[in-house]
Amino acid sequence: MDIQYRLEQKRSINGAFPGPKSQALAERRARVVAAGVASTAPVYAADADGGVIVDVDGNSFTDLGSGIAVTTVGAGNQEVAGAVAAQAARFTHTCFMVTPYEGYVELAEKIAELTPGTHAKKTVLFNSGAEAVENAVKIARLATGRTAVVAFDHAYHGRTNLTMGLTAKAAPYKRGMGPTAPEIYRMPMSYPYREENPSISGKEAAERAILSMEKQIGGDQIAAIIIEPIQGEGGFIVPAAGFLPRIAEWAKEQGIVFIADEVQSGFCRTGAWFAVDHEGVVPDLMTLAKGIAGGMPLSAVTGRAELLDAVHPGGLGGTYGGNPVAVAGALAAIDFMAAQDLAGRAREIEEAFYARFRPLQEELAGLGEVRGRGAMLALEFVKAGGTEPDADATRKIAADCLAQGVLILTCGTYGNVVRLLPPLVIGDELLADAFDVLEQAIRAHV
Ligand code: PMP
Repeated sequence: MDIQYRLEQKRSINGAFPGPKSQALAERRARVVAAGVASTAPVYAADADGGVIVDVDGNSFTDLGSGIAVTTVGAGNQEVAGAVAAQAARFTHTCFMVTPYEGYVELAEKIAELTPGTHAKKTVLFNSGAEAVENAVKIARLATGRTAVVAFDHAYHGRTNLTMGLTAKAAPYKRGMGPTAPEIYRMPMSYPYREENPSISGKEAAERAILSMEKQIGGDQIAAIIIEPIQGEGGFIVPAAGFLPRIAEWAKEQGIVFIADEVQSGFCRTGAWFAVDHEGVVPDLMTLAKGIAGGMPLSAVTGRAELLDAVHPGGLGGTYGGNPVAVAGALAAIDFMAAQDLAGRAREIEEAFYARFRPLQEELAGLGEVRGRGAMLALEFVKAGGTEPDADATRKIAADCLAQGVLILTCGTYGNVVRLLPPLVIGDELLADAFDVLEQAIRAHV
C-alpha cells in the first residue's frame, strides 16, 4: 500500500470518556433524535482518515468497524473526496430516470467486469442495501413468475418491510413491527461451529436445506434463494466448503434465481472482489452496497441480463438511485481498491489476525472460535467448557476496547461475537496496537 494519511495514525484517549463535547451532544440528541436509532459509541465524530476516527473532544479511535463495512478505502479517502467534490461542483442530481448521465453507465460496466461469470450482465442502482435486496426479490419474482423466497437462519438483509421479513433475528429488527411480508421461508444454515453433528460437510448441510425446501415449498414454487456468502450481522458465519456451490447448483436445476447478498462481504472485504469468488460460485443476481462507494450511499442489483431485463420499463428505479455524486464516489473507490490491491491487503490482515488470535483460542476455553476471511473476521465467545454463548463477556470486551480507544462491533444471533471490519487502508502498527488492546480485554473477561 502506498497511502498518505492526513491524520496522525494513533490511538489516544485524553481525559474523560466520553468527553464533555460528546456528552453535550448526547444531551441534545436525547431531546430530538428517535430512540430507535442506537449508536455503538457514545462519542461524536469530528474527523476520520485511514484507520482512525477523531471525536469532537480530540480523542483518536482506531477504527475496526469501518462504519459497518463501508469505508473499505478509508473514511477520509482523498481520491473519493476529490471525485465527489468535482461531481458535486458540476451537478448533484438530475434523476437517472429523467436525464441520464455517463457515470451510471460507467459504473454498470465496471460492475459487469468485476463480478463473477462471463455471461451478459446488467445492473440497476439504488441507495441502500435493503433497497437492493427488495428489488432483487422483485426481479426474481417477475422473471420466474413464482412467489416463494427462501432465506436462511441467522440471515440479515435489512430493516424495510420485505427485508425485515428476510432477516432472521426478531429482536431488535422486527419484534412488534409486523406483519412481515408473506411467502418467505427460512432454511437451516451451515454454521460449522454450532452444528449438532460437527462432522457434517458443507454438501450435507446443503442437502439438509434442499430437503426442507422440497418438503415445505417445492422447488418449482421458489422464485429466489437469497443468502449472504459469509453472514454478517448473524455472526460472521462462514458456511462449510461446498455448501454454497451445492445450493447454487440445486437452484439452477430448479429454475430458482440464486441471489448472493454481498452487501457486507463485497468489494475486497474478504480478500477477493466478492466472497463467492472463494468458492467459484456464480450467482444469478448479486446485491451490492456498503464498500462499493467509499462511504457514499449507493447500492446495486447486478446479474444475468435476461433477469434484469425481464422487468418492464418503469418497473425499477427511484428518485435518487445511482445519484451522480454517489456514483463518482463509487468509481473512485473501485479504482483505488484495484490500484492499491486492497483485496491483497485484506489477506494480510487475515494473516495477522490468525497469527494473533488462533493461539489465544487454544489457550482460552471461553474463546470458542476465531473465523472469517480477509478483513471480515470474528471471535465467538462461549461459557468455558461448552458452547453456550457468552453475550455478557462479549459486551464487556467491546466496552473495554472502546474505552481504550479501539472501536469494535459485536454481532451474532446470540450477541456473542466480536467482529473486526477494519478499513483496508489501516497500517500494520495501528492494527497490531488494536490487537493488543483486544487481547487484553479478552484476557480480562474470558
Ligand atoms: N444485506 C446485508 C448482508 C447487510 O449486511 C446489510 C446491512 N448490514 C443489508 C443487507 C442492509 O443494508 P442497508 O443497511 O444499507 O439497508
